[in-house]
Amino acid sequence: MSVKENVSVTPGEKLAYIEEFLSGENTYVDGDTIRSSVEGIVKVDWVNRIIYVKPVKNAIRLGLGTQVIGTIINLSGVFGYVKIFFASKDGKTWNRLKYPQTGVVYPPYRVTDVSKVYSVKDEIYGIIVSTKNRILHLSIRDREYGVVKALCKYCGETMHVTKQDGRFILKCGICQNTQFRKISPLYGSAIVKKLLYNRYQ
Ligand SMILES: [Zn+2]
Repeated sequence: MSVKENVSVTPGEKLAYIEEFLSGENTYVDGDTIRSSVEGIVKVDWVNRIIYVKPVKNAIRLGLGTQVIGTIINLSGVFGYVKIFFASKDGKTWNRLKYPQTGVVYPPYRVTDVSKVYSVKDEIYGIIVSTKNRILHLSIRDREYGVVKALCKYCGETMHVTKQDGRFILKCGICQNTQFRKISPLYGSAIVKKLLYNRYQ
C-alpha cells in the first residue's frame, strides 16, 4: 500500500504492512498490518524504514523508564514483538492504554534457544530502555522483569512456577510439561491477574 506521510490518522487506522516498515512510536502491529495507536500525524523515517505517529492529543506517553506489560505477538530471530497494553511510571499504578503500542524486547543474556527466555503468547513485564529510531526497546534484564504469564505449548493451560533442581521453572498442572523462562517475581501475582483480566474491559 502507498504510505501517506503527514496525513492525520485516528487510532486503529491502517498505516502500512509489516513487510514494508517497522512499527515505530505510537503504532502497533495487527496481523500483517501496522496501525496507529493514537490520533496524530503519520511520519516516516525512510532511511530506517520506520513508520510512526506524532500524537496530537496528550496520549499516555511511553518513554524512557516507563514500565510496561504486554503480549509477545511474534518473534524475529531472538527479538520479540510485544503488544503493550499497560504502562506504569512506578510499577504500582497501572494505566491501560486505550490503543496498544508495539515494542521490541531482547533476550537479557546470550541464548541459543530464545524459547527458554520468552515465547509467543507470553505476557511479559519490562521497562523501556531506549526509544532509538522511534522504536520502543524493552528490557527484561533486571530481576523484577520477565514473563508474568505463559501457556503450556501442548495443552494451552496457564503454567505455574515451581522449583526444580534449585531453579524456578514453569510447569503445567494438566499435562506436567515443564518449560524454562526468564520468570518475573510478579508471575501469577494478583496485580498481573487483575490487569490481564481487565485487558479488554
Ligand atoms: Zn499442558
